[in-house]
Amino acid sequence: MQFSELGLRAAMLDAVAELGYKEPTPIQERAIPLLLEGRDVIGSAQTGTGKTAAFALPILTRLGPHGPGPRCLVLEPTRELAFQTHESFLKFARFTQLRCGLVYGGVGYGKQREDLANGVDVLVATPGRLLDHMGEKAVKLNMVKFLILDEADRMLDMGFLPDVKRIVEQTPRDRQTALFSATIPPAIETLITWAMNNPETVAIGARRSPAETVKHVLYPVAEAQKMDLLLALLEAIHWESVIVFCRTKRGADEVEQSLKRAKHRAAVIHSDRSQKEREQALEGFKKGSYEVLVATDVASRGLDIADVSHVINYDVPQHPEDYVHRIGRTGRAQATGDAFTLYTAGDAQAVFAVERFITQKIERLKLEGFPYNYTALFDEDKLGPLHERRVKGVKMGGGYYIGGSRRKR
Ligand code: ADP
Ligand code: MG
Repeated sequence: MQFSELGLRAAMLDAVAELGYKEPTPIQERAIPLLLEGRDVIGSAQTGTGKTAAFALPILTRLGPHGPGPRCLVLEPTRELAFQTHESFLKFARFTQLRCGLVYGGVGYGKQREDLANGVDVLVATPGRLLDHMGEKAVKLNMVKFLILDEADRMLDMGFLPDVKRIVEQTPRDRQTALFSATIPPAIETLITWAMNNPETVAIGARRSPAETVKHVLYPVAEAQKMDLLLALLEAIHWESVIVFCRTKRGADEVEQSLKRAKHRAAVIHSDRSQKEREQALEGFKKGSYEVLVATDVASRGLDIADVSHVINYDVPQHPEDYVHRIGRTGRAQATGDAFTLYTAGDAQAVFAVERFITQKIERLKLEGFPYNYTALFDEDKLGPLHERRVKGVKMGGGYYIGGSRRKR
């Protein structure tokens, strides 16, 4: 399949050619014709599969010439995603007269107000700041013909549902709505029923399985040796660029500091950093001036960072879906990537949850030559059968028994 067969306007074909896209990705191939037809679409596909172009290209095709607006509204859960999606729109709209605006928190209102007053065809926004502008009557949504709820799963995780509802209520009912997400958890179903009109679902691939080219390894380690093991791993493996994921902002700061002390060129990205600091970290990492990016889940979700050779989970993710999203950073362009997870005794439950979620047991390895302190995890072999049973989980009326405690799914 070629982009030219999809029914996109010439300016889009020129833009994708300029970007070096050879052919549409599966989600693009299936979602673009539906969106061009005017259908509501639910699109789910792993992170990094080109969902942005899947909605941007058909909408920019249908918007025609510049007009009063905004006529397309794209909601994003985080500033980074809003920033990146806006960048993508600018690239795709390059050969058109269409204007794209961006509205997010953490920066001043002035320029955003000005952009809105000058008129935009496409508005990419995070919910909170958009509501501020709406409250000040700096923007009206009564012209919106296309509404995109991007990264919807994360939007709900972050508690944006009430904000999203307030925004959607201000858009015309006869709009076209598309919802994109890496996963479609049950909570999204309500949003879908409420906001969408007879949507067509386009689901690509097993939603739960992480990129297949990625090799997963768990490194059991005593809590006190985590940092040493991280440094030893960075010594032992051949890598080009690494993202290190931490559970907390403070943890991320500490890891960044330790990496810097060990003479690694490291930067950190989390939600307590200013917008400017985050943009600098991200740009520097993309350009190669930083080789290690330390990140928390919220800050990193969906970030378009290609060609990461390794993901290291310094902390096991709290939510198993985050494991898949983190791993989505590597093995993106069908290249093989490696995903290492440091695993302490306290993480046992979280690791089982991840394994159950990806329906795959992850290999446990010891780093050769590392002066390990003892941890009970090294005796895990003895737990073999019990462990198997735990990984599968025993279904009990909507909950699971994991190691004796009942958890809601
Ligand atoms: P997602 O939203 O699914 O996580 P993105 O839309 O951010 O993915 O796209 C991920 C990367 O893939 C971006 O760098 C984008 O430029 C690139 N990309 C998208 N579509 C194609 C394509 N058809 N061919 C090559 N690269 C593509
Ligand atoms: Mg995306």
